[in-house]
Amino acid sequence: MPRPIAATIHTDALCHNYATLKARAPQARAFAVVKANAYGHGLITTAHALPDADGFATLEFPGALALRGAGVRQPILLLEGVFDADELHGAAQHDLWLSVHDEASLVRLEAMRLPAPVSVFLKLNTGMNRLGFPAEAAPALVARLQANPNVAAITLMAHFACADEAGKGIAAQMARFHAGTAGLALPVTLANSAATLAYPDTHADWVRPGIALYGASPFGSARSAASFGLLPVMTLASEIIAVQELAAGDAVGYGATFTATQRMRIGIVACGYADGYPRHAPSGTPLLVDGQRSQLVGRVSMDMLAVDISTLPAAGVGTAVELWGQALPVDEVAAAAGTIAYELTCAVAARVAVTVR
Ligand SMILES: *Cc1c(COP(=O)(O)O)cnc(C)c1O
Repeated sequence: MPRPIAATIHTDALCHNYATLKARAPQARAFAVVKANAYGHGLITTAHALPDADGFATLEFPGALALRGAGVRQPILLLEGVFDADELHGAAQHDLWLSVHDEASLVRLEAMRLPAPVSVFLKLNTGMNRLGFPAEAAPALVARLQANPNVAAITLMAHFACADEAGKGIAAQMARFHAGTAGLALPVTLANSAATLAYPDTHADWVRPGIALYGASPFGSARSAASFGLLPVMTLASEIIAVQELAAGDAVGYGATFTATQRMRIGIVACGYADGYPRHAPSGTPLLVDGQRSQLVGRVSMDMLAVDISTLPAAGVGTAVELWGQALPVDEVAAAAGTIAYELTCAVAARVAVTVR
């Protein structure tokens, strides 16, 4: 039997989540954001599971070509644009839409003769201060793009820093966007998952949900994915491969960070940080043993972790363990480990077998 760890991708949940997000933003079209190998869920698997998606948004140029190669006909948006002239030429050839976020990308678009005009998403900075032109520069930039024969359609784009933070929100960024773009009659895209779910006035022409599509919450454990009707897409599961009986005073694993205060039974699970499980998950992080909630004990090692099975007498070698998934939200595991679901699903390692359902 092979090493028992596997990730299962539930494509029906993907379809359900896409439809759920569309229903939250009924006037908008929705890019399924599939950067980073669809947040670890598999780029082509995800695209094939969403044959009726309005469009896909990604970051990596080879991934965009792979989508075209897999027969994706819908719009494909490159969220960071292209990185050099070859990619720009390829984008025009394969009808990829591109974000243009700085002077260098604008100049590149003016200096070349493209085989076909490209659709441009003009990225405006409204306060995130990561990528984009100052929103106030929009009218002049739009005029410049409109005069460029390499440019087909133009869409205005911005990104929120705090749509997922209850106390901070989006008001200042929205005000800056509207002030900078007043009078420009162009399509607009602003909303990530958090804004799609929480702020209907951001929906505009295209929404860009990523994490919610995969059934995790952009708000972490503060507002559960289930409360929005979203279903987990990835289940990461393994099995117990050994059992240890501990006496009071016995420690577990590297660094002996956990010591039993009484007799205990622990299961050793075939899953470690080299599989993508977070090494910084502390003792107490939830896991499911044969569907029963239990907890991690001791430090996560490269290939294994330990789970308390003291109150689960039927558990032993071969018992199924869910690290996260349909019965244990990845958001809960992420919260226990001091991170976000995005980081966990993106980190699932190549050595983990993937099953598509
Ligand atoms: C990743 C990304 C998104 C999706 O964000 P989520 O929080 O996963 O919904 C949307 N827009 C841009 C520009 C992105 O880079």
